Amino acid sequence: MGAADQGEERAVTQLDTGLIRAEQTAIDSVPTGLYIGGQWRTTAATMPVTDPATGQPLCEVADASAADGLAALDAAAAAQADWARTPPRERSDILLRAHRRLLDDIERLALIATLEMGKPLAEARGEIAYAAEFFRWFAEEAVRLDGGYMPAPGGGSRFLVTRQPVGPSLLITPWNFPMAMATRKIGPALAAGCTCVVKPAEQTPLCTLALAEILDECGVPAGVVNVVTTSDPGAVMTPLILDERSRKLSFTGSTAVGKKLLEQCARTVMRTSMELGGNAPFIVFDDADLDAAVEGALAAKMRNIGQACTAANRIFVQRGVIDQFAGRLAERMAALPRGRGTDPGVVVGPLIDADAVAKVTELVADARERGARVLTGGEPVEGPGNFYPATVLVDVPDEARMCHTEIFGPVAAVTAFDTEQEVVTRANDTPYGLVGYVFTENLRRGLRVCEALETGMVGLNQGVVSNPAAPFGGVKESGLGREGGLLGIDEFLETKYIGVQL
Ligand code: NAP
Repeated sequence: MGAADQGEERAVTQLDTGLIRAEQTAIDSVPTGLYIGGQWRTTAATMPVTDPATGQPLCEVADASAADGLAALDAAAAAQADWARTPPRERSDILLRAHRRLLDDIERLALIATLEMGKPLAEARGEIAYAAEFFRWFAEEAVRLDGGYMPAPGGGSRFLVTRQPVGPSLLITPWNFPMAMATRKIGPALAAGCTCVVKPAEQTPLCTLALAEILDECGVPAGVVNVVTTSDPGAVMTPLILDERSRKLSFTGSTAVGKKLLEQCARTVMRTSMELGGNAPFIVFDDADLDAAVEGALAAKMRNIGQACTAANRIFVQRGVIDQFAGRLAERMAALPRGRGTDPGVVVGPLIDADAVAKVTELVADARERGARVLTGGEPVEGPGNFYPATVLVDVPDEARMCHTEIFGPVAAVTAFDTEQEVVTRANDTPYGLVGYVFTENLRRGLRVCEALETGMVGLNQGVVSNPAAPFGGVKESGLGREGGLLGIDEFLETKYIGVQL
């Protein structure tokens, strides 16, 4: 065995922690303190980060107190004026450097995302690339903040319209896309000239901590980005939300928590962006390209092991093609390799925790009791780790609980429909309105249904809608505002009008 082979051998040896050396190296590379005012701070208390594929602890990170949270806001508030004055081109250059750094570091960062969140490594690489793109997109937007100059209709004076950063912003992110949800908020905040306090999800703090270190190295000044990790989000974030120095809350997470935070924001009439839950209808008409529809359903269902706000939650298939569609989907789902996200070729990784497995198990049992038939999967997998198999159910009645709540797991709920009007009514029969999917070869019908769906986004003959250049967001209880696209930066800007008497 040559020296290189021996090195390779050592690299895959399991360590006491159950990790192989490359994994341990990636975990050890992440700073574990709070990042406040450009400094890393330790805390007396720490909290564990766990590998959802094994249930084993990966490391401990700082567990912030309310005082730490306020220190982060102090730092953000102190840095705000200078950052707002920093020329847009300089802000843009920093974001471009960070974009490049994320891509150069993609293997390490993807491994960190897989280890803390569970998603397959190939998907984690996709997430890091997607996350990086938000920095490039908003670097390009930072230098294009426009305004206006016009005569008052009555004459005599002029209207000057300009845009200014809204101010110190609170950014709260979920666990399911730990890197992309952070850059989707930090990118436009920095581009607009806002400083921020970022609070990642308790289960996935490592991506954000790694990102803070990268931003520091790319030249983000002290206090412009601050990161607090905590096991008590209410105690740490409520005082910040109620503090009048905070001028913006950008939240991605569940509708239940979003509503609670909106109530808190009302106290100071704080600007908000809310990216909340979904209950996406996925509609297949009998004239659809069925191969494309099955691939689209796989993408819309299985991305992130079904743990995406955009996941196809209710799959409506026109009666004449339902057996063919469901059979092909079940065949494809049954063949998807399951395992730890770091294992080669895995598509069905673990769910985030045991509660998620219990929830999916209950939803499937409920649907079966109401008459749904299982084509593949349908039973939880023995531990260790939080695994649930790729599952296809047909004849899922609209009354089933899974049709009214986010499944957030690898379970496709298929049901038949007869007419266009019927499917639109059933698809819209939910308080959520994030995204819908429509598969048909009839463009006129496709556009008609896209317009009739009460959602912020629709995929027409495509199963993925997320793109940094497109306005992402929902209507109804799926949220307020848009992230990405030309509108994303507006969420962090105020419009100011100056009347000028000539
Ligand atoms: P969650 O429970 O609502 O948590 C989201 C974030 O809010 C976490 O950082 C959480 O911290 C924090 N949080 C919880 N209670 C809080 C409080 N009282 N004050 C301040 N922060 C608080 O949601 P999740 O389970 O992490 O994420 C899944 C949900 O996110 C799903 O509903 C999914 O649809 C939605 N989502 C939406 C989008 C979108 O763009 N529309 C994208 C991704 C995910 P802890 O982790 O410590 O609880």
